[in-house]
Amino acid sequence: MMIKGNPVSEGIALGEAYLYVPFVPQVEQSEFPPEEASRYLEQYDRIRETARTELEDIRDCLTGAGDPDKARIFTAHIDILFDAAMDEDIRECIGEDCMMPDWAIHKVFEKYIRILSKAKDDLIRERVADLRDVKTRLLRIWAGVPEKNLAALEKPVVVVAHDLFPSDTATLDRSKVLALVTEVGGATSHSAIIARSYEIPALLGVSGAMENLSHGQSLIVDAVDGLLITDPDEDQKREYESRKKAFAAHMEQVRQYLSAQPRTADGVDIEVELNLGAASPQELEGSRYVDGVGLFRTEFIYMGREQLPTEEEQVEIYKKVLAQFGDRPVTLRTLDIGGDKKLDCMELPREENPFLGNRALRLCFHKPEVFRTQLRAALRASVCGNLWIMFPMVGSMDDIRRAKAFVKEAKAELDAEGVPYSPNVKLGIMIEIPSIALMADLAAQEVDFASIGTNDLCQYATAVDRMNPDVTQYYQPYHPAMFRLMGYVVEQFNKAGKPICVCGELGGDKLAPAVLIGLGMRRLSMGLASVARTKKLISGLTIPRAEELATQVRQMATAHEVEEYLTRELADLL
Ligand code: PEP
Ligand code: MG
Repeated sequence: MMIKGNPVSEGIALGEAYLYVPFVPQVEQSEFPPEEASRYLEQYDRIRETARTELEDIRDCLTGAGDPDKARIFTAHIDILFDAAMDEDIRECIGEDCMMPDWAIHKVFEKYIRILSKAKDDLIRERVADLRDVKTRLLRIWAGVPEKNLAALEKPVVVVAHDLFPSDTATLDRSKVLALVTEVGGATSHSAIIARSYEIPALLGVSGAMENLSHGQSLIVDAVDGLLITDPDEDQKREYESRKKAFAAHMEQVRQYLSAQPRTADGVDIEVELNLGAASPQELEGSRYVDGVGLFRTEFIYMGREQLPTEEEQVEIYKKVLAQFGDRPVTLRTLDIGGDKKLDCMELPREENPFLGNRALRLCFHKPEVFRTQLRAALRASVCGNLWIMFPMVGSMDDIRRAKAFVKEAKAELDAEGVPYSPNVKLGIMIEIPSIALMADLAAQEVDFASIGTNDLCQYATAVDRMNPDVTQYYQPYHPAMFRLMGYVVEQFNKAGKPICVCGELGGDKLAPAVLIGLGMRRLSMGLASVARTKKLISGLTIPRAEELATQVRQMATAHEVEEYLTRELADLL
């Protein structure tokens, strides 16, 4: 069978399917007759032994893979499993109160979770996430559901899921994921962005994948032409093995440009910057090849945890990134949560249209303590480098002024406490809502810099939910309206002499950087995986050639025409 999908991170993979369905425990209060107590106590022991075996396997697998930090987490889980006090409580609930083992496990774990959640010490509070993990593991074994975990896969597989949350993708073991296939998600979903940054081939929007594929089924993922082939025959496997080799050879050739100075063929320097997610060591590796960080998506620091990161924790992370980049700018985007990004550590309001709701800056205004903590941490870290603070989801001049007032307040607090911060911190905005794009002349007077978030700009300008697979055909980043809007923004910021960048996916796109340069853009920010390809494209361009592309696309009628035209015109540089 062949199924079409949206190739959002290029590459080819052959391997077995791993159907990923996160387990959600369902427990109900239930008891048994007293004479069955010993039977249920034995069952509890068996569940615990199975959990121990699973945890030891994961730990050994991580130790073998040279990841002692992650291995330690699972050692801690084994300790929780055999915690004497909890064990005694559970046994009492089963043996004396005749509670079914799942109900007893749930009750006792929740009791300890409540106690630890109230602890003053951050380290103790963080154990809550571990308790939840162990509890879920025990309840899953009780329910007879096999283990599924992207952080500790046993062997290389193609991960197939309905959808992946950013926290799933952020913790997945990249060395074992041959490719990602999901039913939902478009090119600018966060699964796609992470897949590209990890250079994992990804095919999203494959409808019916979970229903039509089975665990262990043989697959070919062609994330170049957008095709998923199930149960391939030997000829197909041979053909795709050779395509995979050719793709790798092409990538090797592109990679030669990684360390190149990004300069057009007629000698104009373009700044190429990096988009950072969790600021992992792998991501920071890329610092050698770029002129700074154009987008640091700080929300990843808040993901996959039970408690909000403290000011101290944030200071440490921001300092590390700033120090890594020295004099080069690090653009720290304040918390951008809501839309498709959820947090375990923050209760978000349920909304009909989360992308149009209390998202990003609006949520920070709504939760001033969270915003203040982040701003204080960023300012405190600013002494270690060249910090630019950027606000997401700005829709009006009011938003800009309100956000700036928060910074002023945070600075006043630090002044009063005698805590130092750099006097040179720049304040800027993301331009991703059309209302502020059209106010670029005035916005440029109010801020030090701006960066265009093309992922959301496209979503809001074309009125298409960027996560909805049923409307991907309407999500058109090459829409001529996008280039008209961006042209206006660049012109106004250049006129005001303020830095302007593109940090949405178009900044590191295969074709669009040529047009952006033609529109007057001189800074582009992208995931590490796009840096070499973009530098190659830049090095072959001249400014007049880029300007001609920009003139032409703004006069075209459709996104399809723009794509065809650019593919044809830039064929020699791809
Ligand atoms: C964007 O919207 O283009 C952007 C860079 O932000 P995010 O993708 O994180 O929403
Ligand atoms: Mg955005």
